[in-house]
Amino acid sequence: MKKRIAILGSTGSIGTQTLEVVKHNTELFSIEVLTANNNVDLLIKQAIQFQPNCVVISNEKKYNILSEALHNYPIKVYAGKDALAQIVEMNSIDIVLSAIVGYAGLIPTINAIKAKKTIALANKETLVVAGELINNLVQENNVNIIPVDSEHSAIFQCLAGERNNKIEKIILTASGGPFRTSSINFLSRVTKKDALKHPNWNMGAKITIDSATMMNKGFEVIEAKWLFNLKPNQIDVITHPQSIIHSLVQFEDSSIKAQMSMPDMKLPIIYALTYPNRIKTNFERFDFLKYPELTFEKPNTDKFRNLEFAYYAMREGGNMPCILNAANEIVVNAFLNNKIGFLEMSDLIENSLQKIKYISNPLLSDYQQTDFETRKYTESLINKRI
Ligand code: NAD
Ligand code: MG
Repeated sequence: MKKRIAILGSTGSIGTQTLEVVKHNTELFSIEVLTANNNVDLLIKQAIQFQPNCVVISNEKKYNILSEALHNYPIKVYAGKDALAQIVEMNSIDIVLSAIVGYAGLIPTINAIKAKKTIALANKETLVVAGELINNLVQENNVNIIPVDSEHSAIFQCLAGERNNKIEKIILTASGGPFRTSSINFLSRVTKKDALKHPNWNMGAKITIDSATMMNKGFEVIEAKWLFNLKPNQIDVITHPQSIIHSLVQFEDSSIKAQMSMPDMKLPIIYALTYPNRIKTNFERFDFLKYPELTFEKPNTDKFRNLEFAYYAMREGGNMPCILNAANEIVVNAFLNNKIGFLEMSDLIENSLQKIKYISNPLLSDYQQTDFETRKYTESLINKRI
């Protein structure tokens, strides 16, 4: 039986790489649903190529273009946020790949869990914003979340076969991004073009900026807490510029397991789709002799304050990580629109973390309210200084 996949965010970096994997493994997978926000041209192309049961475009203004282009195909066409939220409930879906960027992925992912679908999770913001709520739903509905994020996939792979063996700690590796060796003075002047050049990975714009500021690693710390049920002091971060070791698990007997490969997101994607099996791929093999030096450094949190903010938000709990995420989405967007400088992003996030009302045991409606208020507040800070 083929696995029937719904890809939320099929036009993005993860979405297109997933379709690449599916294209080479049509005996294993079929595409049931594709969704996009705005990129209707690519969505049409993908729909014609992969013949899903249905497609959803979030931007309702693009509905007519999509439905006209697919008029002659047996593909159902929907538009809008509500359609996106509901589409995951379809009976014919086996696995939902959650690859929308940002907070917009939260509600569709929640609905997919409630519909008892297996989740392949790329959208880390879902766990950052509402990890506790998500874990409760996962338990209630007895579903699996399989990480797609390369670090978490690495840990997940290291844990295979370890059953009840306790984790002493995990070590998340970070590439350090394009500014690993830059001075603070340099950082105050970097442009969006500089920040969008990641040394090892080719990703969507938002996560590329998050990698440059190390907010991405901060988010991954929080993501790991919820995925692997860890305490904050069990999660370490180490900079490893070559991005060959994707992360490590240390057990109570002092043994450390690492997962290694060339940096290629198609590997964690395919593992999530075929888990618990591995399948043969033609991905580039890692050659130790080509990399005689794998190096490690302590991340510089004077330069990359976001990493500290994420640890702080994780320790505080409640809606604090939700505030962190919303403020970050606003400042990254402002930086990408040349409205604020690179270092200002952290200053504005810090201000928002201090000002938005703390809620210790948030419900979904509290997260929604927090997200809304934080966005408004952080926007107002940006507008005040322009
Ligand atoms: P991207 O920007 O390339 O793609 C995002 C996708 O989400 C697109 O298909 C877009 O149409 C859709 N989308 C955006 N906003 C939306 C909205 N408001 N409503 C509905 N759909 C919307 O992003 P990406 O790099 O593919 O990242 C996707 C997610 O995967 C992010 O959460 C990111 O952190 C995570 N991730 C990405 C990588 C990577 O290598 N790209 C690695 C690890 C984790
Ligand atoms: Mg990652």
